[in-house]
Amino acid sequence: MQYVEDIFRTLLTCAQGMRITMRHLLFTDNITVQYPDHKRVLPERFRGVLHADSTKCTGCTLCARACPVNCIIIEFEGKGKDRRVARFEIDISTCMWCGLCVEACRESAIETTLEYEISCYVQDDMRLKFGLGPKKEQLPAERAEPPAPQAPSSGQTGGPSTPPESPGGSAPGGQQP
Ligand code: SF4
Ligand code: SF4
Repeated sequence: MQYVEDIFRTLLTCAQGMRITMRHLLFTDNITVQYPDHKRVLPERFRGVLHADSTKCTGCTLCARACPVNCIIIEFEGKGKDRRVARFEIDISTCMWCGLCVEACRESAIETTLEYEISCYVQDDMRLKFGLGPKKEQLPAERAEPPAPQAPSSGQTGGPSTPPESPGGSAPGGQQP
């Protein structure tokens, strides 16, 4: 009896699949797009080429640490309050467009764009370079002079609220100048 039931279920699921196929075949317009003359409208949350804004970046390295393939390289200049990003590169030839770096950034300094045409002839062109971060005197007042941290109340737990300085001053995959 089970044997007959299995055959029936197989035929039923095949018929269900073919119903969807025939519906698209007979009643849906062709959707071939004559790329590159015509391009499809991309969804709002499309994850294209990354863009980093070095004027917003604090060099916290959260994005680089969140990256599963270590394709973000961050180098620093200076120490303490004077520290600034001296090099910010993303190797998009290894980036897998997961967007984890964007989610990790608390400053909205790195974001995905709607750009996806990234073919090039030279491998080095796949390294997106986002220039130097601003010097301290170029920062908005609230960034240049952050408020003094408040002493934790008794019983308070958790890590520091300010971005941690990584021991080597460099992100995973990054280098210390
Ligand atoms: S999108 Fe993913 S793979 Fe690409 S740089 Fe960000 S975290 Fe790394
Ligand atoms: S997480 Fe944001 S602020 Fe931190 S280093 Fe990356 S881009 Fe800069």
